Amino acid sequence: MFEGVYYLLDANCSHLCEGCFLESQRVYNPRDFETSINDITKLQTNGFKVKVTASNIVRYPNIEKILSLCEQNYVLADIFTVQQDIDILERLHDSGVEIAFITSSHSSNIKDRFSIEHASEAIKKAGLELAISYILSPQNKNEIHNMIAEAISVDADSIRFMRYLPTNLNQNDLNLSRQEERIIIKEIYNAQEGVPKEQLRIYIHGHFGTKFRPSKGPVCFAGEKIFFIGLDNIVYPCEFLSSPEFAIGTFQNGHIKLEKKLCGYENDECKLLQMYHNKKYIGRFIKN
Ligand code: SF4
Repeated sequence: MFEGVYYLLDANCSHLCEGCFLESQRVYNPRDFETSINDITKLQTNGFKVKVTASNIVRYPNIEKILSLCEQNYVLADIFTVQQDIDILERLHDSGVEIAFITSSHSSNIKDRFSIEHASEAIKKAGLELAISYILSPQNKNEIHNMIAEAISVDADSIRFMRYLPTNLNQNDLNLSRQEERIIIKEIYNAQEGVPKEQLRIYIHGHFGTKFRPSKGPVCFAGEKIFFIGLDNIVYPCEFLSSPEFAIGTFQNGHIKLEKKLCGYENDECKLLQMYHNKKYIGRFIKN
């Protein structure tokens, strides 16, 4: 499991998918390349491992240099535009990137449905491993077998079943109930048995925690061993907990100054979901 800092490069995006975790960051300007390189280098000098993220990371200027500095071998590619970016994907491949993740339009929180074939074709053509993420919600929870069939049809190497994560404590109809989670996990395990790993590797993302499956160890170190630096130079526990109320510190001149710690949560379940289910987060942060 990665322990370190996620550094946000850019949150501009025209797609405005419902429930996007970068929503609170969209109002800020992107980082310029030199600032990013300086910040990352200082963080590394201060002992942090760094990974970068952005709304359309493939198109960030000189991204291959930043990925190489971070020793990051994957990108989260933008399914809407990736088919226009074959040259960039090839450059990324040549500079050591191995895996491109895309999120399928099977996800109910993506409003427009795009053809996954073109994006997959571009990624495979560039010589990258294709990993597809499916974000499960009550609306698409019965489509697990169709999702696996889709991934096989576009020659994906692996898929990850993620779950929709709420970005605040308000009730919403994209959030899975515990009962739905339990059924989904069972169904994914059953599906895994019918698909050889050589054909497609099927994973269940840590966001599902370990309640309904054999423990694979702790899944969440948000605000303890992992941190997220927003474009506002505020430090948050993780990229999904990046609204002002979750701020735990500041980032200045390459230094992280933590003012609070996120504590009182179990590590075997997403802390954000623990807050959501308990309907509170205020007071769960303590002063450092
Ligand atoms: S709080 Fe949830 S989204 Fe954030 S790091 Fe933990 S598991 Fe991931």
